[in-house]
Amino acid sequence: MKIDVQNLHSGPITIPLNHSPKYFDIRDEDFQVVGKIRGSLTFTLMGDKVFMNGNLEARIRMACVRCLEPVEFSIRKKVTIFYMSSKNRKTGDAMPFDPEDDEVSYYKGLVIIPDNDIRELILVDLPDYPHCKESCKGLCPWCGANLNTGLCECKKEQEVSFTEQESWKEKLKKIHT
Ligand SMILES: [Zn+2]
Ligand SMILES: [Zn+2]
Repeated sequence: MKIDVQNLHSGPITIPLNHSPKYFDIRDEDFQVVGKIRGSLTFTLMGDKVFMNGNLEARIRMACVRCLEPVEFSIRKKVTIFYMSSKNRKTGDAMPFDPEDDEVSYYKGLVIIPDNDIRELILVDLPDYPHCKESCKGLCPWCGANLNTGLCECKKEQEVSFTEQESWKEKLKKIHT
C-alpha cells in the first residue's frame, strides 16, 4: 500500500482495508489470522506531516496456553499515526515504528508505506498468554488429557487416594479423641 503525499494536497484520502494477512507478511506459528484484515485508513496532510487515522479489525486464532485448544478472538482498534518526513530527522533514515512507545512513524521521499506499521499494530495486541477461558483446567501433566472434558484415569486415582488418606486421618482423629 503506497500513499503519494503529493496527492494529499487536494484533500484527505481514505483507503479501505480488505487485505489478506499475507499482504502484511503476518505469518507466525504462534497465531493465525482468520480471514482478512479489514478496516479503513484516512490520510490527511498537516503541514509537512501526514496524519493517518482509522480502524483495524482482524480475527485471530491462537492455542490456549493451558489446554492447547484453539482460541479465536477479534482485534478491533482505532489507530492514529503521525507520519513525519525522514528528511527532518538527523539520521535521515526511516526509524522502525514502535506502537507501544509513540504514534510517530517516518516516511522517505514522498511516499508513505504503512504496511509494516499496520502489521505492528496488530501484533502488539496479541495476548502473551491466551487462554480459552479463565477457568481452563489445562492438560494432565501425566497423560496429557484435556482436563476440561473430564477427569483422566491418573487424576481419578489421585483423587481417590487423596480421599482415602483423608478418611484415614479422620479415623485416626476419632481414635485419639
Ligand atoms: Zn484452555
Ligand atoms: Zn492424566
